[in-house]
Amino acid sequence: MKDEIWVWLPRGQDGRITPVAAELLYEGQGLARRLGVALVAITDRVPDSETRTLLDAWGLGEPRQLSQPAAPHPLYDGGASPLAGLGGEPPRLLLLADDAFGKVAGPLWAAECGVTLVNGATGVTADAQNYVVARPSHGEQFEALVTVPLRSPLAVTLLPGAVGSVAAPPRNLHGQPAMAAQGEQAGQARDQYQIIPPDPANLDIADAERIVAFGRGAFNREAVALVEQLAERLGAVVAGTRPAADEGWLPFERQVGLTGAVVQPKLYVAVGISGAPYHMVGIKDPEQLIAINSDPEAPIFGSAKLGIVGDLYEVLPRLIAELDEGKGLAGNAGAAGEKAKQ
Ligand SMILES: Cc1cc2nc3c(=O)[nH]c(=O)nc-3n(C[C@H](O)[C@H](O)[C@H](O)COP(=O)(O)OP(=O)(O)OC[C@H]3O[C@@H](n4cnc5c(N)ncnc54)[C@H](O)[C@@H]3O)c2cc1C
Repeated sequence: MKDEIWVWLPRGQDGRITPVAAELLYEGQGLARRLGVALVAITDRVPDSETRTLLDAWGLGEPRQLSQPAAPHPLYDGGASPLAGLGGEPPRLLLLADDAFGKVAGPLWAAECGVTLVNGATGVTADAQNYVVARPSHGEQFEALVTVPLRSPLAVTLLPGAVGSVAAPPRNLHGQPAMAAQGEQAGQARDQYQIIPPDPANLDIADAERIVAFGRGAFNREAVALVEQLAERLGAVVAGTRPAADEGWLPFERQVGLTGAVVQPKLYVAVGISGAPYHMVGIKDPEQLIAINSDPEAPIFGSAKLGIVGDLYEVLPRLIAELDEGKGLAGNAGAAGEKAKQ
C-alpha cells in the first residue's frame, strides 16, 4: 500500500471540474495531515488552467495522470475500471465523488485491487486506529459510522454537497494555506502543529480542568491569539474542533470529539464552535459550558450553561479585560455580549 491519499478530480458532462472536487480535497487534505502521508490528485487529462488554479489553491503539485482518458460512463466500457491504468500498489485511500462516474469506477477499482469500499459517504476522518466514515442509513434518518482499520487500503465515494461549500484553505498562523503541507513536506506539516507551544503541563486535554476551545469561527491569527490570551488568563488548555485540527490551527491531540479526545473539564469555553454532535460527544458533563457564537441559532447554545451571542472579536477582548480587572468570567460575561441563556 502506497503512503498516499488519492483524490480523483471529478468532472461534469462539460468536462469541467465539479464543485465536489473541493469537498474531496478538503477531506483528503485533513486525512493526509492526520496520517502524515502525501495527497495526490488523479486526473485523466493534461491539467487545464482551471485545474491548475484549483490545485494551487489547495497547495498541491502536479496531478498524476492516467495514460488515457477515462470513459465518462465506465459500465459502457466493458466493466474494466477506468482507474486500472494507475496500476501498482493501491494508495491508503482513494476518494471519489459519489457521482455517475464514481458510483461505478469506485466499486470496480476496489474489486480489482481487493480494497474495502464505503460508498455514499457524508464525511471521512480517522481516529488513532481507524478510518471513520459517516454515511446515511435508514433513508437518511440516521448517520451510520463505518470504521475501517487504518492498515487496510480503502476507497470512499463522497456524496456531493455533504461537506458543504469549502473554499480554498484559509491561511494559518504561518500565513501559509492552512492545509498546504503534505507528503514530502510532512516534516513542515509537523512544524505547523507547533502553532500553540506545547506545554508539558497541559498537553493532555483529557485531564484538563479548564479548556478554551475554538472552531471555524476563529480561524485567523487575531482570533487564535485572543483565544490563547483568554486561556492564559483562565489557566486553561487550548483545544478545538476537527476542522481546527484538520486545517492546521491546532495539534491533533487537542481535538475534542468523536475522533479526538473525550474531555471532562470543570469549565469549557467554546469560541466560534457550532456545537455539532460529533464535537459535543467529546465533552462529558462540564460543570460550566460557556459558548460564544455570533449565530443565536447555533446548536451549541442548547448545551451551554451560559451563552454569549456576539462576535468573538468584540466579546473576547472584553472578557480578557474584565479578567485582567479581577472580575470573574461567568459573573461578567453577559456584559460582553448579549446573554442568551443561563
Ligand atoms: C465521521 C466524522 C467524525 C467527526 N469527528 C469530529 C470530532 O471528533 N470533533 C469535532 O469537533 N468534529 C468532528 N467532526 C466534524 C463535525 O461534524 C463538525 O463538522 C465540526 O465539529 C464543526 O466544527 P466547527 O464548529 O469548528 O465549525 P462550524 O460548524 O463551521 O461552526 C463555526 C461556528 O463559528 C461561528 N462563528 C463564525 N464567525 C464567528 C465570530 N466572528 N464570532 C463568533 N462565532 C462565529 C458560526 O456561527 C458557527 O456556529 C466529525 C465529522 C465526521 C463526519
